[in-house]
Amino acid sequence: MTDSYEIIKHEYDVVVVGAGGAGLRATLGLAEAGLKTACVTKVFPTRSHTVAAQGGVSAALGNMGEDDWRWHAYDTVKGSDWLGDQDAIEYMCREAIPSIIELEHYGVPFSRTAEGKIYQRPFGGMTTHFGEGTAQRTCAAADRTGHAMLHTLYQQSLKEKAEFFIEYFAIDLIMDDEGVCRGVLAWDLSTGQLHEFRAHMVILATGGYGRTYFSCTSAHTCTGDGGGMVLRAGLPVQDMEFVQFHPTGIYGAGCLITEGVRGEGGYLTNSKGERFMERYAPNAKDLASRDVVSRSMTIEIREGRGVGPKADHIHLHLEHLGPEVINERLPGIAESAKIFAGVDVTKEPIPVLPTVHYNMGGVQTNYQGEVLTLKDGDPDSVVPGLMAVGEAACVSVHGANRLGSNSLLDLVVFGRAAGKRAAEVVQKGAPHKRLADDHLEPILARLDKLRNANGSLSTAEIRDNMQQTMQNHAAVFRTSDSLAEGVEKMTQVAASFADVKVTDRSMVWNSDLVETLELDNMLGQAMATMCSASNRQESRGAHAHEDFPERDDVNWMKHTLAWWKDGKIELDYRPVHNYTMSDELEYIEPKKRVY
Ligand SMILES: Cc1cc2nc3c(=O)[nH]c(=O)nc-3n(C[C@H](O)[C@H](O)[C@H](O)COP(=O)(O)OP(=O)(O)OC[C@H]3O[C@@H](n4cnc5c(N)ncnc54)[C@H](O)[C@@H]3O)c2cc1C
Repeated sequence: MTDSYEIIKHEYDVVVVGAGGAGLRATLGLAEAGLKTACVTKVFPTRSHTVAAQGGVSAALGNMGEDDWRWHAYDTVKGSDWLGDQDAIEYMCREAIPSIIELEHYGVPFSRTAEGKIYQRPFGGMTTHFGEGTAQRTCAAADRTGHAMLHTLYQQSLKEKAEFFIEYFAIDLIMDDEGVCRGVLAWDLSTGQLHEFRAHMVILATGGYGRTYFSCTSAHTCTGDGGGMVLRAGLPVQDMEFVQFHPTGIYGAGCLITEGVRGEGGYLTNSKGERFMERYAPNAKDLASRDVVSRSMTIEIREGRGVGPKADHIHLHLEHLGPEVINERLPGIAESAKIFAGVDVTKEPIPVLPTVHYNMGGVQTNYQGEVLTLKDGDPDSVVPGLMAVGEAACVSVHGANRLGSNSLLDLVVFGRAAGKRAAEVVQKGAPHKRLADDHLEPILARLDKLRNANGSLSTAEIRDNMQQTMQNHAAVFRTSDSLAEGVEKMTQVAASFADVKVTDRSMVWNSDLVETLELDNMLGQAMATMCSASNRQESRGAHAHEDFPERDDVNWMKHTLAWWKDGKIELDYRPVHNYTMSDELEYIEPKKRVY
């Protein structure tokens, strides 16, 4: 039956899947290096979720006070709760400086200081002198930094003649018998045709999988397609139990109110009007790291000090900043609060609640973007022909918890690094290995099966069951019982996918089939998240386990790897890189938590 699909064939040096900040930065570097590069994306590049990033991008430029990349690295290691790989963290914080200056030269319209330098604002967890002072490290283009970056990177990529395949949905990786990635099969949503992209390197830049949860700040397109493809290729994903909740999602809608608001002086209050963060984090207060603020808010609500008729949320104030600061620095926030909460931020507080925001876990890579797997006892074995960057990847620089403004940085630093590495290992114009005539058969068989699926459950029903299970069982606070129940429920939800029903059988703009493929991608990652969380018997970063409230460096300072095989998750571990790259940064020892 699968011979009925006509396949259009392409050959490139490198194919990038995804055109968010990470995919575009990689595409630009590759095109500049003269490699024949295709960028395949399911949405128009400037509609990728990166466009929604508000607060900014970190780099120790020191434009608005003293700063040093070593302090930035210290904050990032500490923020990661000692799960981040210190070599990669050193690379990111050091390369942040040239990477941001480069962005400025490409034309990103950053806000400016009076002297004309890039404007930088304070952000949670960003300090000077190894935790002593507050750093102004987050470079911002008002509250639309991601928007500014994405447009500039897209324009520069077009200038360098990178080729874009827009509204093409990547279905699966083409892996050969030796475990080498040889390309990707994609579906042109507007014509319904299938395209085989052969490449010497495939770079996955498909973003996070926030949509496995019911309430999240990420776009509907954040369905973790790259992680899904990697799991189907028999490769593991890493540290999936670490899901970041952002303290300030708008109550009810889930849309994000940037941490930049608190960076500019905004603060949280409970029903008694108390600035409760002073109790939980006497030093950092409202700018403590996100896991600390989210947990403090959850405790306030649990103990009956929430605001509103149901006492189930918290207030965020920025009235005191005055209309001038708000209009200049936070215009987008004022608009979102008006539209989604009906609030005039110059006069009243915004109702907020912790909401799923970021996936620290993903496809594990080294600091050059190469995908790694555990092979013959080597946990850092490179998978030839495959890279991953951005939120889809786990380098791991964010460890158990990401600091605000370190993701946009991760996109540009590792997008750039992956481009450089690919330019080293790929020979321009080299011929492509001949593959067996039926090499696409398993991919086409899966597609065909789902397209004709005639079970009794709609995609939306299964997705809703998954989202509710994740929301209730892999939440801000977790217990052994709730996680064990979560594993059982998620296993049932994942198994119910065998009974899915797709009603549209066409190939042109078949959104029913797109959503079904996305759901399949999410289910494996939801399972990996729940099982990894249930397995980790400690509290670290975003993983707050009430039965094991302490961090346990003796038994658990290790990354979790998860494989998805025959409806079950298999787990193993990878050691944390407890070493730095140079002598300039000494290994940062875990200490007792002080916030
Ligand atoms: C509301 C919000 C605000 C944020 N603010 C900040 C901030 O201020 N600072 C910060 O550092 N971080 C911030 N973050 C986090 C950061 O923005 C994201 O982690 C980051 O933008 C992810 O970028 P990405 O390039 O990895 O993926 P995305 O921008 O999500 O792009 C994914 C790309 O992959 C493509 N794709 C996916 N699947 C497929 C497929 N199957 N086939 C083809 N193409 C596919 C999509 O078309 C898209 O182009 C924020 C996140 C959110 C949700």
